[in-house]
Amino acid sequence: MAKSTRMTFCSFCGKAQNEVRKMIAGPAGVHICDSCVSVCKTIIDRELSESAENAKPKDDAIQRSLQST
Ligand SMILES: [Zn+2]
Repeated sequence: MAKSTRMTFCSFCGKAQNEVRKMIAGPAGVHICDSCVSVCKTIIDRELSESAENAKPKDDAIQRSLQST
């Protein structure tokens, strides 16, 4: 008879520990798998680069709006 082991599931995508390469445990019994970490990193990198671009003055847009008026 197989010994019952405590299975953990990703709190984000719901995959079981044996379906992912790495499961990271957080506080209060939450877990995140390596693929969700990868997705989160992609989102964070994209949003941070977008906000960095938004912080720059958009010379092209300003010049275009001046020329159109
Ligand atoms: Zn996941």
